[in-house]
Amino acid sequence: MAESDEGRVEEEDRGSSTSGGGTSQGRLVVVSNRLPIVLTRKSGGGWNVEPGSGGLVTAMAPVLRNRGGLWIGWPGTTEWDGVEDALRKLDPSTGYSLIPVRLTREEEEKYYRGFANEVVWPLFHDLQSHCNFDPAYWDTYQNVNRKFAEVVAQHTGPQDFVWIHDYHLLLAATELRAMGVKSKLGYFLHIPFPPLDIFVKMPWRLELLLALLQYDIIGFQTMRDRRNFLQCLRALVGAADLCGRGQVCDIELEHDKLRLGAFPISIDYKWFASRAGSKEVAESAWHVHENLPDRKIVLGIDRMDYTKGIPYRLEAFRHLLRTNPELRNKLTLVQVVVPSRRGIPEYDALKTHIERLVGEINGEFTSQSGWVPIHYSYRSLDHYELLGYYRACEIALITPIKDGMNLVAKEYCASNIEENGVLILSEFAGAAAELQKGALLVNPYDVVRMSEAISRAYHMKPDERHARMRRLRRSVRKRDIFWWVDSFLEAAIAKNLDSFPVIADYVPDGAPDI
Ligand code: UDP
Repeated sequence: MAESDEGRVEEEDRGSSTSGGGTSQGRLVVVSNRLPIVLTRKSGGGWNVEPGSGGLVTAMAPVLRNRGGLWIGWPGTTEWDGVEDALRKLDPSTGYSLIPVRLTREEEEKYYRGFANEVVWPLFHDLQSHCNFDPAYWDTYQNVNRKFAEVVAQHTGPQDFVWIHDYHLLLAATELRAMGVKSKLGYFLHIPFPPLDIFVKMPWRLELLLALLQYDIIGFQTMRDRRNFLQCLRALVGAADLCGRGQVCDIELEHDKLRLGAFPISIDYKWFASRAGSKEVAESAWHVHENLPDRKIVLGIDRMDYTKGIPYRLEAFRHLLRTNPELRNKLTLVQVVVPSRRGIPEYDALKTHIERLVGEINGEFTSQSGWVPIHYSYRSLDHYELLGYYRACEIALITPIKDGMNLVAKEYCASNIEENGVLILSEFAGAAAELQKGALLVNPYDVVRMSEAISRAYHMKPDERHARMRRLRRSVRKRDIFWWVDSFLEAAIAKNLDSFPVIADYVPDGAPDI
């Protein structure tokens, strides 16, 4: 579509959505790198568009519908013929509008695969050695953040609340303010925020920090992330006086104040708990054990990513089998790895490394009786398979070396309706703050103690398993994804900070509480 046509379409959009759905309260405008849709080419031309189905979309949808909302993001393609029309057709079924941001192939490459995934992702997960600080990535990242901001500016008014998501759009508020946008701007970082010593390695550290100060409220996953951010602010920008001691606090800036909060993201607990009780999931769970009779199953489910700690986990399992021969034939590790970021050499090398380790361990321990210690799959699961595993497996082994939250851990608990599973969880997953009392926490680099935790989980008495799992499920039920959306939006407008609780924190043994 020609430039002028594009402008006209957006003009029409703006008119209709403001008059149709606007309220005096203002609309909610969600902005994320990707629109929550699945877009596929039809065989005869045109597009098939289906609404996304994750917990975030489920929780946002009612709020967006009630407030006449918009969702702005990249639709996941650099081909544009008919995409806008296809998105518009979805409006009546979603109840809110989907507005696409156009990216070229080069922008997608340098902003998304480049800056977001080769700079921010590894650095914010404390893995500086994985970073590629290419200045060309930075230039494109700024340009694309400006592009997102332009679309937001075109479609919003001063009464609207704009909620921007994640590490792809760290600079969006700066761009919006430079364009004169007056709306209230909120931001949620879905990944961790690193400690000062790591953050200072970022060549554009000051630009990023100053850009974040342009938001009105920033949400982090945990108190630790918020503490890290404050530490960077104090060291690089100047003292920041705090007001409020709980989940939400304010800091005084030169001309304004910035609200900071810890809002641990969660899942649609009820959906998982009720779906796990369905006949289809019960059958799927039955098949899991039918195929692996008379043994306990340890489950690992991760996206293919170096932050997930899969090689250390496999080493821990090997150590367990070497040092506890009595557990051979009695324990099987089901490791599902979901393909992600395919074609990137680092990810391809990780896959080769994992598969070599699985081969070595199976080669060392597979028994004549037919017992194979590790059942490995490299594919996506459908809902029934996923929930079947969650329900059937006695132990979940979730050991990322760093993770913003880790929803698999919460999904496992919600789906474990018999309340007899044991969760072994990395202390470096954001979820550890809330789940520390029910889970067995491990250092994901400590192969020996991880193997001891698996042995402890294997031998754990039913009473202790029940008590721990009940506690875990209560925690996930209490703070589900709907709580998360409500508490962020409430914090964005609240006057009284004392109404927010002091939420769970987790500081590893011996680490200074900065
Ligand atoms: N998941 C999926 N397909 C699968 C297995 C898992 O979509 O085959 C989902 C899982 O239900 C969870 C998400 O992927 O909601 C993983 O989220 P998590 O926070 O654990 O890690 P992330 O991949 O976001 O780093």
